[in-house]
Amino acid sequence: MNDDAMSANLLDAEPALADQALKRAPQDLDELAPSDLRAAVLARYKDLSSLRYDYPLVLSVGGGGADMLRSLSGIVDGLLQQIAPRGIEGERTRQHVLRLEREIRALVAAGNAGSLARVCEMAQTRLLSRAGAAERAELEDSLTRAQAALASGGELIDCNEKTPVAVLKHLWKAVEYDKAQQFHRNIDKIILGLSDILKVDFIKSDEARAPERLKHTVGSAFESAFDFEAMSRVLGGVSRKDALPRKRRERIESVLAVLKSQRFFPSPRTDAKHEGAAKPYGFIFDSCTQALDAFEGRLPEMVELVKAIAIAGLELDNRYRDAAHESFFERFDHSSLRPEDLAFFPSYLVCMRDGDCDAGEQALLVEALVSGLPIKVLLQSDDLLADLSVSRGKFSLGRRGSQLASMAVGLHGAYVLQASNSHLYAIRDRVVRGLLYEGPALFSVYTGADASVDHIPPYLVAAAAMESRAFPAFTYDPAAGPDLASRFCIDANPQAERDWPAYQLEYEDEEHQKISEQLSFTFADFVACDRRYTAHFATLPRSQWTEAAVPLAGLLTENDASTDKIPYVPVVGGNDVLQKLAVDDELIRAARRCAELWRSLQELGGIHNSHAQRLLVKEKELWQQQKEHELAELEARSAQQAKAPTVEQTADAPAELAQTLPEAAAEAPSDEAYIETPRCTTCDECIQINGRMFAYDENKQAYIADLTAGTYRELVEAAESCQVAIIHPGKPRDPNEPNLDELIKRAEPFH
Ligand code: SF4
Repeated sequence: MNDDAMSANLLDAEPALADQALKRAPQDLDELAPSDLRAAVLARYKDLSSLRYDYPLVLSVGGGGADMLRSLSGIVDGLLQQIAPRGIEGERTRQHVLRLEREIRALVAAGNAGSLARVCEMAQTRLLSRAGAAERAELEDSLTRAQAALASGGELIDCNEKTPVAVLKHLWKAVEYDKAQQFHRNIDKIILGLSDILKVDFIKSDEARAPERLKHTVGSAFESAFDFEAMSRVLGGVSRKDALPRKRRERIESVLAVLKSQRFFPSPRTDAKHEGAAKPYGFIFDSCTQALDAFEGRLPEMVELVKAIAIAGLELDNRYRDAAHESFFERFDHSSLRPEDLAFFPSYLVCMRDGDCDAGEQALLVEALVSGLPIKVLLQSDDLLADLSVSRGKFSLGRRGSQLASMAVGLHGAYVLQASNSHLYAIRDRVVRGLLYEGPALFSVYTGADASVDHIPPYLVAAAAMESRAFPAFTYDPAAGPDLASRFCIDANPQAERDWPAYQLEYEDEEHQKISEQLSFTFADFVACDRRYTAHFATLPRSQWTEAAVPLAGLLTENDASTDKIPYVPVVGGNDVLQKLAVDDELIRAARRCAELWRSLQELGGIHNSHAQRLLVKEKELWQQQKEHELAELEARSAQQAKAPTVEQTADAPAELAQTLPEAAAEAPSDEAYIETPRCTTCDECIQINGRMFAYDENKQAYIADLTAGTYRELVEAAESCQVAIIHPGKPRDPNEPNLDELIKRAEPFH
């Protein structure tokens, strides 16, 4: 599938059975009152603070690139390697530090923000206040050592509606800081070189030779030893033929002024923040409108800076020629900027929510993504199902952020990443790659911080959105290669090769028997967690948990339109009791549509690609035909050979002909060893075993040269080694050779 077809497929996919009138609406079933249900698979994650997972994250202050984002668990693991020896010796410290981690996680989940050091101190205080006298000293020792090591950690953030902006801004700043450092290293060298040129020229000037200036140069220690008036007169008489031409000096001064006053890269030197210094430009915006306006407004200064650097390079190499360069630089304007010139400047980071992205802003977003400009847009979605409504007789999946991301893939030139908050840490290197990409990038992130599912932690909601294919993860990296296979990737999704991820559900029935079922996590399971959509479900009473009640996923896969089955999704309420919810037709259609969109992504990602599968079938057919043809030819040849006269029948046939005929070999007495020489592939195996017993003929094909030169064992081993099974060991010649019974048995398959 080419890129052009791609966005159309994603946006226009229609449900295969959208118009089929499924009659499974659960009218006879109990209506479901809006309540805090959660998909059954989430039941085991009641208390996230007791689990070790990616969150909270630490916005690190060192390391660079993807290391700027670390997980608390990862930091604690590293710490334990340092302070807790392996085995029983370090077990107590390990337990203490893991308790500290759990406490930090609970504090962050309760809304305590700040640096790792600060929250760590709070956690330590809480743990010590709860500790008994017996363990207090040891606990304090472990925690103090841990706290010292954790003090250098950065800001802690949890998985919530603030996460995408915090992560993107943090990584963007790290990337841009590196770029600014590089800029200043280069510019400082250029400024120094140009200043030296001017300094040398100044030394030769009349101003530098004035008595007062000479006095200042020599210094007060030798002031009385010189007659500066006389010295000035003498030096003033020296010709200034080496002086810089005025035009060149002015050009260098103008270049220096541009370099020193640029506002794109803040100076790392604190002394540059002196009064009167122009404030550096900001590059973080709330909308594409602002970012594009800022870019337009700064364009003339960008042109001047690029021009100044180019002229400086020529001046430093003494290669600037008025005739060649003057008119070129006069004509140099914004149209002269190349993509690498634009990539040289800081990128523009736009952080917005999909709710703020109205039609006008969407148009500008598309403009930004096709512009080739280094604009990085974070499009955050908090409510994935807000637009889930019945329109044109079918469920619309809404998901503006997701649709824009899919559309952006079709624009070819933009880096696109879509991911849930829950997954942001795992793909942090891909986020950094998008920020480093020299063109535009779109980051579409779903937070899971949705008010209508606030009975479930945002981390789980975000993870459920990805698992249910409601918000699948993907990346499109135009710089990764020339084709879709290199550029498009969906490998971050769980069980990406399946329609829906499978999981094992274990529960107790009324008789307290453990039941284990394999189920799939579908789009409807995700919707079941949202209070707004309870009208699309009905409680399936226990009496109806019969064979007619089937997990929804089976029907979605089979496109089963029969009405005798009741599709259900398993959920639990606050009491953790398993319930089965029947699903209405509208939601079934929405789930099918979701699956179709997912399959389109799978195809783009090279999974179950219809073109590849069709090609495979075709190739298999061709291969089959070829094999049948070869077989037919072989059979025809065998039949022909069967009719040919045998060695005995052709008494006049030359002896060498008899040796080369396969039939001749086939008719060798079965109790004497022989080789079907014409079929030998010269693999050397038999020769390696015994080079006197086996030898090659003039065609480099093996035959038995001397049966007495080896043992029966060697014959059998050669037969076993022969890749085309043409060595027939016959019967043993020496009845006294050891282990003959075993060897005869091994020789049987070769008779
Ligand atoms: S092992 Fe078989 S194929 Fe290989 S050289 Fe000997 S006879 Fe030929």
